[in-house]
Amino acid sequence: MLCSMSSEYVDVIIVGAGLSGIGAAWHLQDKCPDRRYLVLEERQSMGGTWDLFRYPGIRSDSDMYTLGYNFRPWTEGKAIADGPSILNYIRETAAEAGIDEHIRYQHAVIAANWSTANAAWELKVHDAATDAVVTYSCNFLLLCAGYYNYAQGYLPEFKGYDRFAGEIVHPQHWPEDLDYRDKRVVIIGSGATAVTLLPEMAKDAAHVVMLQRSPTYMASAPDTDWIAKFLQRLLPDKVAYAITRWKNIQYQRWIYWQARKTPGKVKQKIFKLARKDLGEYADFEQHFVPSYNPWEQRLCLVPNGDFFHAVRDGQASIVTDTITEFTAHGIRLESGKELEADIIVTATGLDLRVLGDVQISVDGEPVDLAKKFSYKSMMFSDVPNLVSTFGYINASWTLKADLTAEYACRLLNHMAASGKRQCTPRLGEDQQDMVGNDWIDCFSSGYIQRKLHLLPMQGNESPWRNTQNYALDRKVIGKGPIEDGFLRFTDGPVPDRRQ
Ligand SMILES: Cc1cc2nc3c(=O)[nH]c(=O)nc-3n(C[C@H](O)[C@H](O)[C@H](O)COP(=O)(O)OP(=O)(O)OC[C@H]3O[C@@H](n4cnc5c(N)ncnc54)[C@H](O)[C@@H]3O)c2cc1C
Repeated sequence: MLCSMSSEYVDVIIVGAGLSGIGAAWHLQDKCPDRRYLVLEERQSMGGTWDLFRYPGIRSDSDMYTLGYNFRPWTEGKAIADGPSILNYIRETAAEAGIDEHIRYQHAVIAANWSTANAAWELKVHDAATDAVVTYSCNFLLLCAGYYNYAQGYLPEFKGYDRFAGEIVHPQHWPEDLDYRDKRVVIIGSGATAVTLLPEMAKDAAHVVMLQRSPTYMASAPDTDWIAKFLQRLLPDKVAYAITRWKNIQYQRWIYWQARKTPGKVKQKIFKLARKDLGEYADFEQHFVPSYNPWEQRLCLVPNGDFFHAVRDGQASIVTDTITEFTAHGIRLESGKELEADIIVTATGLDLRVLGDVQISVDGEPVDLAKKFSYKSMMFSDVPNLVSTFGYINASWTLKADLTAEYACRLLNHMAASGKRQCTPRLGEDQQDMVGNDWIDCFSSGYIQRKLHLLPMQGNESPWRNTQNYALDRKVIGKGPIEDGFLRFTDGPVPDRRQ
């Protein structure tokens, strides 16, 4: 049976040309070479996070041997890489594999409706170049849309915000010409961005204060992996990369497991390293000892102790207090103190965005994701032919992104081989009353907690759990059978490829 589509039709549409989208396109070309695909990207360039963020010192906070793709060795000298090097890695991957030719930039997917009659997703897409809404259709939708709002970061309401006479900057929109030389800078926040910015800005600013409400775990580590470098000298790139990647995955897992099993011991280890880099420091308890256990929120990496050194050397300092208001000259605190500043950087975090804000519907019925169970942490109950990429919060994002893309390819090949056009995760008959839990548990980071109510649920048994466990995911997602009784396959019309 043929059905004709009024819009441009391809087999697979990938939404987003960031680290995940380019990786997914690579896997698709490699494992499903006969599938026609497009990448729709709302921005004017690829790279996502690594193209958007331009603040001084922007870098990864996980090692590139696990943040890099499983198919393309990371061969640069440093394990903790700067933003431009990561962007270059993504661009080179796309160029080498000819993925660029499949990308349509300035194409923001607004809505996607699954049509059972056509066995196709019908997409409404805003084309910014022409300011027109255009339509695309495909059999399979692979969302690689990241997890946060690109238009703006999270900014809490600060009393007197407009009163401040100096400059206020959010790291997500760093002004190219911002001159902070010899200026007094206050960075609000204590997450990875603040921890990255402080030592970098401290090199030129008059003084930098990191103003935090409460401390975060900061772990000192070298930015270079000497074992990796040694292996690179001895072995072909691919072999050296595979060994280093395996080593680092095991190491990350071990640290995370230790943090869960013996948080007290891990805490002491982190504090010991910090104290060593800080030297004599009177207020350690107040500024460096968090109220939660390690890995209940993402741990901040401090490469080569740079953050601690800037504090030790007096170029920067930490204030732990609560903001009452912005004043003309700075920030007034609950303690009564006023922090004077020429520049305030609001490193207050990201605004979580679910599924790239694409409005999903099935046969015209809007899908409320919060009422759906996530299947293998990448599909959703009763939503056909849609896989969404969401990396790990306790390990490198790409470990999960690779697994997700590989699973999608296995699924596509299974459907092609069995002649089925629709696959839909369905709860088993005895699971209809399954209790839904938070999609991510034991993780208290603000950006997740603020939007938890919009995320799908996880169940209490496989394949409905979101374990955040790479080793387990390799079994369930990587090697588990496609036909598991929960993913239901049905027939559907074959599109007229002449369209
Ligand atoms: C500053 C910063 C540092 C980070 N460092 C690390 C790290 O060290 N290690 C780690 O594991 N993770 C890190 N992360 C998480 C990071 O986002 C991921 O590692 C990874 O880059 C995500 O890639 P992605 O392609 O999935 O998403 P993104 O990089 O967010 O890319 C998504 C792309 O999809 C596009 N898009 C979204 N919605 C739509 C739509 N509706 N239509 C069309 N296009 C759309 C966006 O424009 C974007 O180009 C960091 C995040 C930030 C913000």
